[in-house]
Amino acid sequence: MNVPLLDLNAQYEPIIDEIKIEIEKLYSSHHYILGPIVRDFEHEIEKYLDVKHAIGCASGTDAILLSLMAIMILNNSNLEAFADKKKINSVSQAKNQAEIITTPMSFFATASTIVRSGAKPVFVDIDEKTFNIDPELIEEAITENTIAIMPVHLFGQSADMDRILEIAKKYGLYVIEDNAQGIGAKYNNKYAGTIGDIGTLSFFPSKNLGAMGDAGMCLTNNDDIANIIKQLRVHGENPKYFHKYIGLNSRLDSIQAAVLKVKLKYLESWSEARRENAKYYYELLSDISEIELPYVSSFNKHIYNQFTILTKQRDELMIHLNKNYIGCAVYYPLPLHLQECFAYLGGKIGDCPVCEDICKQVLSIPIYSELDIKQIEYIAKKIKKFFKHD
Ligand SMILES: *Cc1c(COP(=O)(O)O)cnc(C)c1O
Repeated sequence: MNVPLLDLNAQYEPIIDEIKIEIEKLYSSHHYILGPIVRDFEHEIEKYLDVKHAIGCASGTDAILLSLMAIMILNNSNLEAFADKKKINSVSQAKNQAEIITTPMSFFATASTIVRSGAKPVFVDIDEKTFNIDPELIEEAITENTIAIMPVHLFGQSADMDRILEIAKKYGLYVIEDNAQGIGAKYNNKYAGTIGDIGTLSFFPSKNLGAMGDAGMCLTNNDDIANIIKQLRVHGENPKYFHKYIGLNSRLDSIQAAVLKVKLKYLESWSEARRENAKYYYELLSDISEIELPYVSSFNKHIYNQFTILTKQRDELMIHLNKNYIGCAVYYPLPLHLQECFAYLGGKIGDCPVCEDICKQVLSIPIYSELDIKQIEYIAKKIKKFFKHD
């Protein structure tokens, strides 16, 4: 048997005819960037996630960058008011480099976008059970330059948003949720990505809702933030050829919106299938003491973008699974604070000990919706064999 980490063939096969019809319609409309189909898809997401504004853009990375650029603009206008009040001549005298608090356990884009927005990432260690930012460590990382907290809902499970919002409120900080991996996940009764000031989505092909290419989205209930982001995605212009901000060219392609609109109808059932697969793994694997299965906090509805187990024999298990034609991957092998390109920030081994330890033990195994029972049993059998539990 051969079980890949993700099987896009199996995902597209049942719906490809429906997608082809939408692409055909779009082709003849010749409206290839933004346009009515993008607006339709944005509305569908607004309805699905119960959020006021959904703003499509070119990728999940750009969605984070646009969000950060928007809060940097808002922060600067606050500083202008502050400088005015204090009779400081220039804003630059009032401002130091803005700091954004985030997690070291994430995909690179979480931190690279912070730097590209002009701010400085400040990494706070993670909770050892959920692998999400540890809210209890956030307060000690706050300085007078902190302007926002950016949790990541890793692997499809929300961070502890109540605690994060409470801290943000106390210190007057924005909250941006990097929800690239968490579309449809819930924290209590709210959808992840709609709880803070801004949330982001990625439609990278391996995400639970994946496009046929790159695509992303910003979510917000705040009208001012929505207006700024809408301008920023088209070069900062409004009206056309008049630029208030230095924006990006980051729009959602109509063809991706057409594909995503079809796929969105199936998303809930796909996520449900992932939860069922997870349940079966728990049944089959919970008596193996050498591995730890994902922990789900009581306030969370998980969407299992990844099913990530922990084991001290990670590298050996990975070789064993690959030999048996089972796809698996390490998300992530190196914490963000130890990446070479961020060395100038002064991060060093020991700064985030929980994350550093977890990165040596994580292994994500197949969890995609179309996995069948036989495949899950095969994977479980091979894992048991490795630990000599067969
Ligand atoms: C996928 C991902 C991104 C980036 O999304 P792209 O669409 O690939 O640009 C950002 N953050 C996290 C946590 C991700 O998993």
